[in-house]
Amino acid sequence: MRALAKVSRTHGAMELVERERPDPAPDEALIEVEYAGLCGSDAGIYEFESAFERMALPTVIGHEYTGRVVETGDAVSGFSIGDRVVERPIRGCGECYQCSIGEENVCQNAVITGVDHDGAYERYISVPERALHPVPDSVDPMHAAAVEPTSIGTRAVIENSRVGPGDRVLVEGPGPIGLLTAQVARAQGGTVVVSGVGQDETYRLPLAERLGLETINVGSEDLDSRRDELTDGVGFDVVFDTTGHPSGLQSAVDAVRKGGQIVLVGQTGETTMPYSPLVRSEIDLQCSYASMYEDFERALRLIGSGDVDCATFVDDRFSLLDANDAFEAFLSGETCKPVFDIAELEG
Ligand SMILES: [Zn+2]
Ligand SMILES: [Zn+2]
Repeated sequence: MRALAKVSRTHGAMELVERERPDPAPDEALIEVEYAGLCGSDAGIYEFESAFERMALPTVIGHEYTGRVVETGDAVSGFSIGDRVVERPIRGCGECYQCSIGEENVCQNAVITGVDHDGAYERYISVPERALHPVPDSVDPMHAAAVEPTSIGTRAVIENSRVGPGDRVLVEGPGPIGLLTAQVARAQGGTVVVSGVGQDETYRLPLAERLGLETINVGSEDLDSRRDELTDGVGFDVVFDTTGHPSGLQSAVDAVRKGGQIVLVGQTGETTMPYSPLVRSEIDLQCSYASMYEDFERALRLIGSGDVDCATFVDDRFSLLDANDAFEAFLSGETCKPVFDIAELEG
């Protein structure tokens, strides 16, 4: 079968390779992949950022996907042939201290599908039963491919923020995680504004508006004056930084109100800034990483209810047969969440 793999340690270097259809181990199910999304981290592999130097190449990438069980190992008891599933792609070891106390998302030995072993940009993937999550019929298959990134947003908002009804919320960064986080924060009762930069004005900020969210373009508007106008000069109760850029934390500090909360979701990288003003304003600085079973469950329900509007959010214009187009469009901000029809790899 054909699969899209990262083949060498340079920018780009994504190629269609041949893979054998895997045989599931006793504790695994074989999944026929239907749809798979392109994630910011897949784009990071495309650019070959330093975080991915550990990868053994070639590796088939892709970790946000959905499909059906077509075969089960002898020891699989919770899933049957025909069941619709998504995978929780960051797998805890089950044995370290964090796994023992229910913090699998920060496992010391976690492995990630599509990074540490072959992922879902191929028609068949074998997955341990304990990493699978059932998908109800109420969720459209193409939308189910967005469950994993949505679960990052549900964890950030519901588990790790204090957003409640009436709160004024700023989400920095209109990328996939930002726009999903924003929709979950709105479902929690927040009044949500999304900020972006010049590169976001062609696709991502207009998409935020189509999702019914207020936007700020910090490339052409003054963040401070928009903040004052939107929050009566007080500042935002909660600011989510999903930019993955060092400037995101500094601008979050500028935008949050005294006594408010900043939730770091994107991986900011390296930055220096004065922290004393945060102490004096009693800013709550919270991090949110990955997601767990309950976050997936909530993501599925919010997609099913339409609170997270995947019909508007998902971009089906791209094909894995011309994957570079999708990666380049993603990196230049001309798309937000491409979802590929994996059946195209057949034939
Ligand atoms: Zn992802
Ligand atoms: Zn562990």
